[in-house]
Amino acid sequence: MRYVSTRGNAPVLSFEAAMLSGLALDGGLYVPEDWPVLEAETIAGFAGQAYEDVAYTVMRPYIGDAFTDDEFRAIVGRAYAGFAHKARCPMVQIDAGHWLLELFHGPTLAFKDVAMQLIGQMFEASLGRAGKRVTIVGATSGDTGSAAIEAFRGLDAVDVFILYPDGRVSEVQRRQMTTPQEANVHTLAIEGDFDVCQARLKDMFNDHAFREEVALAGVNSINWARVLAQVVYYFTSAVALGAPARPVSFTVPTGNFGDIFAGYVAKRMGLPIDRLVIATNQNDILHRTLAEGEHRKEGVVPSISPSMDIQVSSNFERLLFDIYDREGEAVAQLMGELKHADGFELSQGALGRLRAEFSSGRASEEETLATIARVYKTTGEVICPHTAVGVHVAEPHIRTDIPMITLATAHPAKFPDAVERAMGQRPALPPHMADLFDRPERITPVANDLEALENTVRGMRR
Ligand SMILES: *Cc1c(COP(=O)(O)O)cnc(C)c1O
Repeated sequence: MRYVSTRGNAPVLSFEAAMLSGLALDGGLYVPEDWPVLEAETIAGFAGQAYEDVAYTVMRPYIGDAFTDDEFRAIVGRAYAGFAHKARCPMVQIDAGHWLLELFHGPTLAFKDVAMQLIGQMFEASLGRAGKRVTIVGATSGDTGSAAIEAFRGLDAVDVFILYPDGRVSEVQRRQMTTPQEANVHTLAIEGDFDVCQARLKDMFNDHAFREEVALAGVNSINWARVLAQVVYYFTSAVALGAPARPVSFTVPTGNFGDIFAGYVAKRMGLPIDRLVIATNQNDILHRTLAEGEHRKEGVVPSISPSMDIQVSSNFERLLFDIYDREGEAVAQLMGELKHADGFELSQGALGRLRAEFSSGRASEEETLATIARVYKTTGEVICPHTAVGVHVAEPHIRTDIPMITLATAHPAKFPDAVERAMGQRPALPPHMADLFDRPERITPVANDLEALENTVRGMRR
């Protein structure tokens, strides 16, 4: 399998090269040259299989010769061994025709573990074999940083530095980043907000001498390998409810469009998905795009579902590439308009294709809180605010003949304040994390200054 850039003007790469490089040189995102299709019998055969076995079969066509069959099986096995539930991504039913797909049984209690744990093992195998080491630097407003630290802690080929805005992440989120004691992971508290962290991160990547000196690498959400890992649970959940003999629909709490794009990939691969429903909070650029045919940025308004507070939905570019007939030039033009004119209008053809596959809806803050309270009252299930956005948006799309699966993207204990506001009780951490508040923390404070930051990374990497 070869990978091409969505802007059509970068070298074609192997899976391994696309994974290690992240962004393409023309500013585009890497996508596979075509979508491999699984036979209906293969999909039907997933029924009753272990999560790891389905993961192997779904992802194998994309990996090429990056890993042998045995190596890849072992990588998948190691990636999910630390999940607290044997099914890895189990489901619960919350209403007639409506299920939750629980994606939060990984080490940091959010769905980002599903991809990050796999990426950690793939980086280690690939770099270890080549005798190379890299320095991963990332910025986080909460969930991504802890998922990266958990995925790479203790691995030989990688040093990890996560920048977070000092005093501006929740205590659970901070402690998840600062309590791992391994010598190769570091949490840097930056003086400033999340935008400052992202700006300094960009400066580091643009300092080419430094970039080479420390072999800088990134694992942000535009990395194709992260999207790929998320395709798997669409298959396991749909098959559990009767696919491929009967179709299913999905509702996905959406920010950067990575998770729901993985659902679109599953559909291209032959999984019978009826509707893919985009659920947004009050930051509703994607909902407005579907409703109005215009993709236009507005300011971000902070919400109680912070992991969806975005205005540039990076992975949407991958979908644009498909609905514009894979014409890189057209995508490059649109992305230019987004950057310089804050938005663009979709062509009639592209809008038609978008609406043929996707529906959308938004949840206000009040609707999100009311949904947490109502789901608790009617089912006893405690859900996180992101999941609640999904449940609220899913409800008008539920049909008796097609099961609806809403993705539960984080454990409620990760967002205790919002949950307490909604239902008057604070959710407890799961048993394997119950001592989080007793573990010692390790934090390196750094000024908002590129040189200070680069010196810190130089001094601490092994
Ligand atoms: C990252 C995240 C999302 C949004 O996922 P995207 O892939 O960015 O669309 C939703 N919920 C939670 C809890 C997250 O951490």
